[in-house]
Amino acid sequence: VEDGVLKAGASAWLEKDRRYVWHGMVAHEAARHPMAVVGGDGAYVLDAEGRRYLDAMSGLWCVNLGYSRKELAEAAYRQMTEMPYYPLTHTHLPAIALAERLSTWLGGEYRIFFSNSGSEANEVAFKIARQYHAQRGEPHRWKVVSRYRAYHGNTMGALAASGQFDRKFRYEPLAPGFVHVPPPDCYRCPFGKEPSTCAMECAQYVDDVMRWEVDETVAAVIAEPVITGGGVLVPPDGYLPKLREICDRHGALLIVDEVICGFGRTGAPFGHQRYGVRPDIVTMAKGITSGYLPLAATAVRAELFEEAFARDEAYAHLRHVNTFGGHPASCAVGLATLDIMERENMVDRARILGDLLAAELKRLQGLPHVGDIRAFGLLAGVELVEDGATRAPLAPELVGRVVAACRQRGVIVGKNGDTTPGGNNIVTLCPPFVVSEAEVQRIVDVLGEAILAIS
Ligand code: PLP
Repeated sequence: VEDGVLKAGASAWLEKDRRYVWHGMVAHEAARHPMAVVGGDGAYVLDAEGRRYLDAMSGLWCVNLGYSRKELAEAAYRQMTEMPYYPLTHTHLPAIALAERLSTWLGGEYRIFFSNSGSEANEVAFKIARQYHAQRGEPHRWKVVSRYRAYHGNTMGALAASGQFDRKFRYEPLAPGFVHVPPPDCYRCPFGKEPSTCAMECAQYVDDVMRWEVDETVAAVIAEPVITGGGVLVPPDGYLPKLREICDRHGALLIVDEVICGFGRTGAPFGHQRYGVRPDIVTMAKGITSGYLPLAATAVRAELFEEAFARDEAYAHLRHVNTFGGHPASCAVGLATLDIMERENMVDRARILGDLLAAELKRLQGLPHVGDIRAFGLLAGVELVEDGATRAPLAPELVGRVVAACRQRGVIVGKNGDTTPGGNNIVTLCPPFVVSEAEVQRIVDVLGEAILAIS
């Protein structure tokens, strides 16, 4: 690679890709034409032909600080030369320092367990929830309530918690004990309500499920503050507080999945803080290292740890181990990420840019095919429909053409991951916090042009 261009043999590399690399989530023919990314700077990535794209998806919702932060690479290098590896069955300094910082970011005392991915952070949360109840004398509490359209990961438990059919199809049966409820989708309310007549029936339904399942069998409820990959579904303001209240009343733990919403994305350090809710367990990954190295964490309220795990009976400790969880280099990059976030006031920046993005997106409201526009922090979803009156979802091929038209114009936008029939018509935006105001405007301009191009 020279000046961002793969000088020799781009086609030979892609031929090898077709032969050796298996790309997930991409259908066979599409997987034969990947974009080979060879570099990046700020909010931009460069492909092998030297094309530069404004990445309005931060890779996979994670490169919050942009692509060229040498400080993050240097933190990894320093750590790897000093002490490259030791498992967290013992300890090391970067893990201690990062656990303390995360607890501070969470605004309360939390015990932190490190792992490798958002999926694993959620698996760990489910295990902790079950074990917590078992060790307090309620071993029959093992079920987890989750929402349709949510995504919580790709492993057998996290996938079972997810509510997206196409990701599960042909892999079932998955882990048992996950009970799904309708999502807070205010544009297509599962209870036929409009915002003006909403009585948060979707939250009330969780209360009903507690009775129908018998609450003594329910260990936890898991929810993202805003369903992200499932189409940026922003709930009514009282929804998460209501889930908190329901969990308290029924003795279940509230797990909040902050894998995307965490680390400033919503304009607050964590998304749940915007709703004034204190979760029992918080799971995080992605933005924790701004995507530079794999790392995830499961944070558990210190009181819960003290209550159920601070004892020496047989089997009372958490029996989950992973070789790479809390890798020293990843923790060092996590610390450097938080340093930059704090030094450059990135949480405030995300909030201010998010307000701008929301205001700019309003310009699209009158365009053909634009049904609903939802924004929350520096995160947005534009729901495309055949026409505004029927709200019939726009055909997936046409949504794909909008995404492709944006890319042709040099802007990468996303599409919701929920490809359940009738549920894959939402363009998603999740730009790095380093975008400028002009770049936010450009993202919206290009999306508008792309929508007009298919109209
Ligand atoms: N939870 C949420 C909300 C996610 O969006 C994702 C991934 O996109 C995950 C969990 C799983 O994270 P990972 O891909 O790191 O396993």
